[in-house]
Amino acid sequence: MKLGRYHRNRGDRVKLVRGLNGAGYDPDIIYVTSLFTYAWQPVHEVIRYYLARYPKAKLTVGGIYATLCTDHLREEFGYRIRIQKGVVPELDDLRPDYSLVPDWNASIVFASRGCIRKCPFCSVPMLEPEFTARKTIRRLIHPRHKRIIFWDNNILASPHWRDIFAQLAEFGKPVDFNQGLDARLLTEEMVEIMRKFPVPNVRLAYDTDGIREPLKKAIDLLRAYHYDGRRIIVYCLYNHSDHPDTFFHRVRDLIDRGVVAYPMRYEPLKPRPKNTYISRHWTAEQLEMVAQARRVIGYGGAFPPYEGLRKKFDRAKDFEKAFRLRPRKK
Ligand code: SF4
Repeated sequence: MKLGRYHRNRGDRVKLVRGLNGAGYDPDIIYVTSLFTYAWQPVHEVIRYYLARYPKAKLTVGGIYATLCTDHLREEFGYRIRIQKGVVPELDDLRPDYSLVPDWNASIVFASRGCIRKCPFCSVPMLEPEFTARKTIRRLIHPRHKRIIFWDNNILASPHWRDIFAQLAEFGKPVDFNQGLDARLLTEEMVEIMRKFPVPNVRLAYDTDGIREPLKKAIDLLRAYHYDGRRIIVYCLYNHSDHPDTFFHRVRDLIDRGVVAYPMRYEPLKPRPKNTYISRHWTAEQLEMVAQARRVIGYGGAFPPYEGLRKKFDRAKDFEKAFRLRPRKK
């Protein structure tokens, strides 16, 4: 949509097309985006289709898969395509062209790019290696939009967070810090200012045992400022360097603290089918147990702090006891 804005500003005709559909005219330039590395097949399919349908157009592929797996893409398409790695800095200041998605009612904002940390399981250091932050988001917000969604990787690391939060208080629209808040950076001053605008769900992460204490402090702080535990969602990475029992302890910790545990299965940053990677401390059966528990005793893929779940996890001595489900009666 930023590309759309850029081209419209130049007086070009722009059309957003999904899947295998014609543009209705012969375009000069085609941009194809890509998402998770395991979802590369539909991207290849789309590229093949548009190369064949519009052989004269210049085709550029960008996005996450294109940035992380450039060689994989190049092997298949050679120099028939252009590959855009990472963010295009000159587009980043533009407000997305929301007229391309008229039913959408939220402004998507990046107040910063990159992250100050280098977590070994995360693609951000490769996608956006430099941490940069902006002081204002005012002109990135569409006046008719009802919500604001941040896609920042680590907004609390921004030296301009006070300016940004003050602007959010002025807008007064519900805010979703979609990629989560870094519990290690959350301070009382931040939470106090956050109370000035609606944040329907607060997202945090408990990816390793090492952040247990800062996470506990962050949850206590949010609870002290009356954030409902069922609206505090904590992502729990598993299937990386962790062990099933340590994963279980993290989930149990969260449910005991009255917040929602949201398991996130690690996927390598490579083009391989989803849910096929098994890290060295896990087995396929254990991974399946988590998937089943999420479906059967969880809600929407998460483990909310229901009393029944809390009791079940508190009684369990280890991962197997916590996640093995009783066979269903016929
Ligand atoms: S803090 Fe979050 S965004 Fe930053 S490197 Fe770690 S996982 Fe990635």
